[in-house]
Amino acid sequence: MRLRADPGREPGRVRLPAATRAESRRITKALGALGFVLPGTLAQRRTRCGNPGCKCHADPPQLHGPYWWWTRKVGAKTVTRLLTDEQAADYQDWFDNARRARQLLAELEALSLGVVDTDPRSARRPGGRKPAAAADSPRSAAP
Ligand SMILES: [Zn+2]
Repeated sequence: MRLRADPGREPGRVRLPAATRAESRRITKALGALGFVLPGTLAQRRTRCGNPGCKCHADPPQLHGPYWWWTRKVGAKTVTRLLTDEQAADYQDWFDNARRARQLLAELEALSLGVVDTDPRSARRPGGRKPAAAADSPRSAAP
């Protein structure tokens, strides 16, 4: 069995500043500490039923609920499930964890993109155009 590489280690020939390696370790450590994650959103909603004689159709209407609605995308469909107050309280952290995971992943992607952008081998692009950073630097250096 191979040992898992230190996520902050320099991958092969890519040279990383110590600060970049430390940032990578901070993010992956935070991701690893998250635990369970639930997709979608949890919101409280009041509803109207299908019975026209019900108080929810009266004037003024007395809507049912509030209920906890958990909605998430499954493929192209939005799936809704009702949760009890107790479930909503128990799972709230898992929704928060999912949001945090998305933030951390976005940070890790930005950090990784920065590494590629500053890699001297990234000078070549399709069509022979110079990368924006290299094209911009003489302009930004000019007074
Ligand atoms: Zn009703």
